[in-house]
Amino acid sequence: MNVTILGGGIGGLTTALSLHAAGISCRVYEAVSEIRPLGVGINLLPHSVRELSELGLLPALERMGIRTQEVVYATKRGEMVWREPRGEFAGYRWPQFSVHRGHLQMMLLDAVKERLGDNAVFTGHEAIDITQDAGSATVHFKPRDGVTPAPVSGDAVIASDGIHSTIRGLFYPDEGPPKWSRRILWRGTTIGRPFLTGASMVLAGHAWQKWVTYPISNLEDGTQLINWIAERTFEATTMHAPEDWSRPGKLEDFLPAFEDWNFPWMPVPDIVRGAQKIYEYPMSDRDAVSSWIFGRVALLGDAAHAMYPIGSNGASQAVLDARQLAYELASRDNIDEALAAYDALRRPATAKLLELTRAEGPDAILKVVEERAPDGFDDLDKIVPPAEREAFAARYKNAAGFDREALNGKPSLAPPKRKQ
Ligand SMILES: Cc1cc2nc3c(=O)[nH]c(=O)nc-3n(C[C@H](O)[C@H](O)[C@H](O)COP(=O)(O)OP(=O)(O)OC[C@H]3O[C@@H](n4cnc5c(N)ncnc54)[C@H](O)[C@@H]3O)c2cc1C
Repeated sequence: MNVTILGGGIGGLTTALSLHAAGISCRVYEAVSEIRPLGVGINLLPHSVRELSELGLLPALERMGIRTQEVVYATKRGEMVWREPRGEFAGYRWPQFSVHRGHLQMMLLDAVKERLGDNAVFTGHEAIDITQDAGSATVHFKPRDGVTPAPVSGDAVIASDGIHSTIRGLFYPDEGPPKWSRRILWRGTTIGRPFLTGASMVLAGHAWQKWVTYPISNLEDGTQLINWIAERTFEATTMHAPEDWSRPGKLEDFLPAFEDWNFPWMPVPDIVRGAQKIYEYPMSDRDAVSSWIFGRVALLGDAAHAMYPIGSNGASQAVLDARQLAYELASRDNIDEALAAYDALRRPATAKLLELTRAEGPDAILKVVEERAPDGFDDLDKIVPPAEREAFAARYKNAAGFDREALNGKPSLAPPKRKQ
């Protein structure tokens, strides 16, 4: 079996490693001419860390990131309303990691080159079309510098070409651009002193204005690289600019709204001012679709289920897709049945998660606290009783598939090795 993977992001590279582990031959074709460590922080939840560690990547994650120890929800004044352990600190068999997205991508790329060889990843290959005949699919690429890369044929094509997926557009031509949530995220990293446990993830504010931050690496002098996101919701329903992960942001567009968010334990405005670079990203997603499989073509990662970058789902769900897909391809003799099984398992699971991120994210409790006590409170128990707080936390975890007992007891997705 020979598989063509389109897109060398987190999903595409994890697919390559997973197929290789299953003894399935594959190659990755990436649009950009050079893969560089772009983006800022992301979190890998225990279910995806499990999969990456079964690929032998735990030591590399350990070197690059921080084992997330707890999540803290706080008001816009810094009053803590919920604090709970994460990863192995919460009894999961696997840790949760906070990492730099670009460093994760480069680590996966290095692993692909080391295991599959230098000829496994082709850059400068932007897929524009796919033709199919019985049992095979051929990818066609955009000309670059006057040269058109040769088409590539294989038994299956995995389209992991991100939120603006060209390949998804071939099968859903009327879908249009992603849907804007009326929220804009300003994202950055700042070198600073550790806060709280030194491995805490903080979500503060409420549904209309939010601050999210967590450290993503320890630096030699005892400081940390701190990832942060400042989020604001707008009345406008027309997005002012399309999503681009690398668009520069401007302080004056959001800092004034956060100027008095000086918590006793975290100086939000100072952290923002200390950033090396700021990016602006209109938070958007796509509706769930009725199929990810079109003959021998399968969608994966953001191309299949772009969601808001909240709740740590983007990279984590792409990793789960990759592993499930490899597992199905390795376990079955019939490729069409394997693709159908992948679709049947992963599409409903991510559609449920999409609904959840649109309705209420993991920090839904913050909205309730703001509505009931916009000017602060003396006794949190009178605003949101402990049982209600616990119910908020449990609801999201169950729906998002990282309920501890379910994950700890789930069989491995390590694929059986195929006979070539
Ligand atoms: C530059 C960049 C920065 C990002 N930064 C963040 C961040 O800071 N925080 C966050 O939460 N998420 C970020 N993301 C998104 C995040 O990586 C994904 O949500 C998640 O990891 C799922 O991964 P994916 O592989 O599906 O998509 P992605 O990681 O987006 O990867 C898609 C890949 O496909 C390539 N590609 C696109 N079109 C084609 C084509 N036609 N042919 C071949 N290749 C193609 C892209 O260049 C990219 O490398 C970023 C994505 C990118 C591309």
